[in-house]
Amino acid sequence: MSVRRCTRAGCPRAATATLTYVYADQMAVIGPLASSAEPHSYDLCGEHATRLSVPQGWNVIRREIDPAAAAPSHDDLLALADAVREAGRDPRTAADAETTGGLRVVRPRD
Ligand SMILES: [Zn+2]
Repeated sequence: MSVRRCTRAGCPRAATATLTYVYADQMAVIGPLASSAEPHSYDLCGEHATRLSVPQGWNVIRREIDPAAAAPSHDDLLALADAVREAGRDPRTAADAETTGGLRVVRPRD
């Protein structure tokens, strides 16, 4: 059983939350640790989840995070992941996601 780590560079802490971007809606959602890795999602430790900043014009939605939840099952997050996949079918959005990649290079689009 492996412990998932925070995806921020150099951060050794265990992930307690998953950040998901919904590019089409300029929205970032922080919620409980996702049960599986999804495109546009990043595992974060509590500190990085708290300190997250997003580009101007983006919204951050913070969902309830239960640190005691060992085996999360989150239908809402799966639904969100589906929405992200839908967004990924937009060629423009997909290209944008590919070129931006990780957390530190996310910038607002003109
Ligand atoms: Zn971290």
